[in-house]
Amino acid sequence: MLTIAGYQIHSLKVQEFLFDGTPLTAGTADPSRPKPRIRLATRLLLIVGNGHRILVDTGIGELCWTSRWAANATSPYRLEEELEKHGLQPGDITDLVLTHLHSDHVGGAFTCAGDGLVPVFPYARVYVQEENFRTACRPDEREKGSFNETIIDEFRQLALFHTVSGTQELFPGIDVIVSNGHTRGQQLVRISDGTTTLLHGGDLIPTTAHYPATRVTGNDIDARTVIEEKAVILEEACEHGWILFFGHDPFRHAATVLRRPAGFVPGPAPEF
Ligand SMILES: [Zn+2]
Repeated sequence: MLTIAGYQIHSLKVQEFLFDGTPLTAGTADPSRPKPRIRLATRLLLIVGNGHRILVDTGIGELCWTSRWAANATSPYRLEEELEKHGLQPGDITDLVLTHLHSDHVGGAFTCAGDGLVPVFPYARVYVQEENFRTACRPDEREKGSFNETIIDEFRQLALFHTVSGTQELFPGIDVIVSNGHTRGQQLVRISDGTTTLLHGGDLIPTTAHYPATRVTGNDIDARTVIEEKAVILEEACEHGWILFFGHDPFRHAATVLRRPAGFVPGPAPEF
């Protein structure tokens, strides 16, 4: 068990999916060959303590509103089973911190009921960066496919929806760090007691395969900013022994950062 600043930290692997790699080869891919697919997972961070039961992100969810994601899923969505392992149900979550509003991070916040959608975490206060919410409400051509209009509208109507502006402490020992390369106003979640620190890498460092600073993802809006931001985070994580948590790594949920002549590589992390 990993405890930081009075919080117990858990990793919930709620789904696996395949991500379309064709944007990298658009126009030149051989149509007779299978499409390149990247194997990914959606992992949620559960933080329990000090009167809070905090969930970071929700994953894709039950897929009832987008066939694009449904086609890519390679496992059912296991939110309830994963929460149950820790004696919790969705109604027990007090706070939902969203790294950003791309569909694979927030789709699970709502589920179908009749013709409409209802919140899965009815008592949770929802935290998102103001700038990311603004981006999601009016996405440009580059980012439009990453947001789901219906879900963003549902958030807008939630009484417990709360926007925050900038890097700041959200709860004692838990702060959010703004990052703008993947999408404007992504927030990385950091838990620290001054000795042990864990950072949710969001989609800035979504897997261990993204440790090389120049390894950007196909849907980053600003690759140069990603490279700069990632270099700063990896440097700090390496120096201070931070544990990084990966929201999309199919093989492991956490690692530390070691310096090697060729660059940073994943190191061992405590069990949790
Ligand atoms: Zn993502």
